[in-house]
Amino acid sequence: MIEVIALSLLFILFGSVFFSTLFIVFSMVENEKRAAIRMVPVTIFLLIFGAALIFVAVPFIFQITLLAFILVALFVVLLPFGNKSITFPVPEKQFDERDVMFSRAALKTDTVEFKNYYAMRPQNLQADNAFRKLPGLLNANAKYYNRYIFSAANATFSTVNLLQPLTEQKTSESDDKKINAGEVTLFLKKWAEKLGVHSVGITHLQPHHLYSHIGRGKNYGNPVELNHKFAIAFTVEMSSKSLSYAPQGPVVMESSQQYLNAGTIAVQIAEFIRNLGFEARAHIDANYRVICPLVAQDAGLGTIGRMGLLMTPKLGARVRVAVVTTNMELVTTSPKGIDSSVVQFCEICKKCAVNCPSNAISFKSGKTKSGWKLWKISHEKCYTYWCKIGTDCGRCITVCPYSHPNNFIHNTIRLMIKRNPVNRWLALKLDNYFYGTKPGLIPLKKWMG
Ligand code: SF4
Ligand code: SF4
Repeated sequence: MIEVIALSLLFILFGSVFFSTLFIVFSMVENEKRAAIRMVPVTIFLLIFGAALIFVAVPFIFQITLLAFILVALFVVLLPFGNKSITFPVPEKQFDERDVMFSRAALKTDTVEFKNYYAMRPQNLQADNAFRKLPGLLNANAKYYNRYIFSAANATFSTVNLLQPLTEQKTSESDDKKINAGEVTLFLKKWAEKLGVHSVGITHLQPHHLYSHIGRGKNYGNPVELNHKFAIAFTVEMSSKSLSYAPQGPVVMESSQQYLNAGTIAVQIAEFIRNLGFEARAHIDANYRVICPLVAQDAGLGTIGRMGLLMTPKLGARVRVAVVTTNMELVTTSPKGIDSSVVQFCEICKKCAVNCPSNAISFKSGKTKSGWKLWKISHEKCYTYWCKIGTDCGRCITVCPYSHPNNFIHNTIRLMIKRNPVNRWLALKLDNYFYGTKPGLIPLKKWMG
């Protein structure tokens, strides 16, 4: 009996040493020096404790108490409770794309569009005039101006623009209009993975997914008319290394790159569907008819969290989303409800709100009398900050505990977070201990200029 207890303790202790050593190695690879350094004393303590169990006559009563304590703790960690499936209320009104900050920023003074917009929304004029006085995105006078980085991001956005004509094209004449929905859905998913998507899902296109009016491009102001039945949503990963420099230039270099990657894949998928003889439209950066995070959430790719972005299970908000809509029959992946663990974690975390330099993210609870509501950020405050610094900031994404790399260590923590509220509380404490509540800015690498 004594030997069994001692061996069990040794097994648990050396398992913990293995995990903590792995954590140190992964943290070094991820350039998270603070996390690696903070795990060293924990590992040494576990090693000394293990050695004491082997070489010192530890009283039996102490051993059995410790084992009982560890088993109870393990039981609590593994126990699934406090996780209800939820639904967010469907927005009553469609959102007008003309209210998106990029649409407002693109309005030129003394144009008809400018006058009409502020006649319709006089309450936005003051806030918009404030950001118009600032340098602006990728501007040479902005705070984080960097000649090479801004030029690279501009080059990538110009390449995204070249894709715009490919978003809407004529459907090929096809004699064979029959399609096996299951077969083509499987093909699409597998092919999308090969093209580099992180996750892909399909949902029925709903009215609230669509903007009410077009806010960008040559059809500005026209009502959105899209009668497609299905929407394919997918995510591409944004590099955690690039995002770690937030809010400096590498963030906008990375987001532009992933807009390009997502855009390229979306136009490929849309063209594939047209080749089969069905209508399809790609929704890519600066050319959306749908609100991508709402579509992606309904397709089961994640949950919209406190920072107003889609939080995916393995990458958090560290993704870009694109959508293809079509009238080709597909098999949907929509879940019956949304896993509440993300919103429950957001409820206690608030790290994005604490770190947001423009106070755009709400600290308020997402709970309502009837359930949960979608958190909304102040897009005016956020965009005005972008216009000061010249990049798209991304500080909220970087500090989010869900944004850590997709590997064994962080996925274990993510699984814990999903399981119960005790784990969520613990995971938040650990995240703050290892990574800090307000991580500092990381200096740019020499090659970045
Ligand atoms: S930082 Fe925290 S509160 Fe903000 S989105 Fe991420 S998990 Fe939610
Ligand atoms: S991008 Fe920056 S300014 Fe905007 S909400 Fe996130 S942290 Fe705040």
